[in-house]
Amino acid sequence: MNADKIATIDWLEPGNGQHYRFCPACAKDTVDILGYVDLKQLRPGLADRVPPIPVARCRFCDTYTTISACNEKFQGAATNALNFHLSLEKRNREAGRHLLNQLNNYSRTIRRILEIGCGPGFLLDEARKKGLHVVGYDIDEQAVEYGRRTFGIDLRSELWCSAKNEHFDALLCISCLEHLEDPESMVENIARSVASNDAVAVLSVPIYPEGSIYPYLNDVKSEDHFNIFRLVPWHTIHFSDFGFRALVGRHRAYNYISIPTPLWGGGMMRFERGESAQRLGRRLSLLWKALIKRFRYAPDKKDF
Ligand SMILES: [Zn+2]
Repeated sequence: MNADKIATIDWLEPGNGQHYRFCPACAKDTVDILGYVDLKQLRPGLADRVPPIPVARCRFCDTYTTISACNEKFQGAATNALNFHLSLEKRNREAGRHLLNQLNNYSRTIRRILEIGCGPGFLLDEARKKGLHVVGYDIDEQAVEYGRRTFGIDLRSELWCSAKNEHFDALLCISCLEHLEDPESMVENIARSVASNDAVAVLSVPIYPEGSIYPYLNDVKSEDHFNIFRLVPWHTIHFSDFGFRALVGRHRAYNYISIPTPLWGGGMMRFERGESAQRLGRRLSLLWKALIKRFRYAPDKKDF
């Protein structure tokens, strides 16, 4: 993370936690700390390792951040999520199949899929069954090892970046950006790689029905309030719909389309380059045909 994007503060004192200086979603200098989450009541086991976590809100785009999740002190808490993944296998396979069908509706032939934040690779396994070539990246070694062993797919326990120069027709980053400290650099890498591959990408983050977690945060007695704080420190950034669009919009999202899925709601977009180029090509060829037609059927116009 770019150092000037973070206000560096001593960690140990509650009230002095680290937080974003610029909003990781809309990039504006409009971040206020709302308060601190004490996880003792929610996660007795975790509370020993996790000091009170500052919750900040961007008053411009209504995105919430709890940056501490990716502090090095929490690496152990942010990974080793195999059991969590396994508990969601059925749901994620189903959603994965749905997404893959959607991709086919939208795009040209897809043969190679790259997934960032693939966990044990349930979605990729579904893609493999369709005969696609798949590669997945996830920093959770346990999950990657499990997927590699169980499904025999190419999973790598490293952080993906565009410098790896991989070829793909579709890049997926599903429910991953909200875990990262610096989603901007990931989106930047994705945009670069999508452009050089002439590919499509689908990114999604969880977005709450009202487009903000604010109503849930205030209602401390509600189950939603409880559920949101269960996500801390796993989720670093709670995007608003507007904030998420602002983030991807800064990086040449050629078309922002909500792809309907039963799971991810409105938090999905895609970059595409290939289809834009194809559409332009189609328009040019129509124009060309119109010119040819005119030329052919106007033989009397000598000066044409
Ligand atoms: Zn913002």
